[in-house]
Amino acid sequence: MAAPKFSIIAPIYNELENLPVLYSRIKEVMGQTEEDWELILIDDGSRDGSTDKIRELGQLDSRVKPVIFARNFGHQIAVTAGLDYSRGDAVIIIDADLQDPPEVILDLVAKWREGYEVVYAVRAEREGETWFKKTTAALFYRLIYRITDVKIPLDTGDFRLLDRKVVNVMCKMRERHRFLRGMATWVGFKQIGVEYNRAARFAGETKYPLKKMLKLALNAITGFSYFPLQVATYLGFIAAGLSIITIPVVIILRMTSSPQFTGQATTLIVVLFLGGVQLISLGIIGEYIGRIYDEVKGRPLYIVAEAPDTNYDQTHMDVAE
Ligand code: UDP
Ligand code: MG
Repeated sequence: MAAPKFSIIAPIYNELENLPVLYSRIKEVMGQTEEDWELILIDDGSRDGSTDKIRELGQLDSRVKPVIFARNFGHQIAVTAGLDYSRGDAVIIIDADLQDPPEVILDLVAKWREGYEVVYAVRAEREGETWFKKTTAALFYRLIYRITDVKIPLDTGDFRLLDRKVVNVMCKMRERHRFLRGMATWVGFKQIGVEYNRAARFAGETKYPLKKMLKLALNAITGFSYFPLQVATYLGFIAAGLSIITIPVVIILRMTSSPQFTGQATTLIVVLFLGGVQLISLGIIGEYIGRIYDEVKGRPLYIVAEAPDTNYDQTHMDVAE
């Protein structure tokens, strides 16, 4: 079977009500491109019947390719599987909850046709999201921008178009704790942003609770920066510097005026402060070591229970079939 021009990747985790609308809107939009396309739906261990719905769509329309995971592996891994299975000349990553309006794909495609290899969608406005989510997201993007070595564009999610060249490079990057927007920036090539208004979720609730958001943030920071490790060094220098200043001060005070040092509280504070700094530093190092350990284990990134039966070039995949 010939490879289609466009591959659309949508990760699915309990999105039953969104699936039919997602499919029909993508079908409508992709029809306007007058090119062949495939829609890769990755079921990331759904428990609400999305899995059957995905299979059903696959039977209804042969352009829909179901990839069914053996369990929940997380959003970033699901998208990675989508990239692995995609065959299009251009690959579009989109959320299944219709927060990324499929109609924007046409704008992404237009830029791709102009010769850009990464076209990312920039969120101009975000509808229907809590104040908390918007604020933490805005802070997160700015923090990442400051402390990482890769200048990841602000206010962009994973909604983007990637040229086949970029996808091939990204498929070779098999790191476990993934932050795809960082990786897509890191590869280089000709990149450009397209603004869009992020809609409210069509149905259901966010699948990114605070815990998953923090995990993603940690992956982004540790994946692209040594800043946290350097913080430990800075704190060490500050603590050592302070003691170098205070030692002579104390000696001189003691010799000249013999003041009464009520030392207990001071000692306790110093011990607690240094203990705290040391434990935090250990924790930071631990985060990095844990990640090294995960890489060394070399487990597959994901396990598929069912995959489309097209002949894929599986050289870059580490999935046991
Ligand atoms: N998702 C997934 N696995 C997960 C969590 C989320 O595949 O463990 C999918 C989800 O179905 C959706 C996309 O990732 O298509 C983005 O999730 P969500 O809309 O809940 O995130 P938010 O927009 O609230 O940041
Ligand atoms: Mg969403």
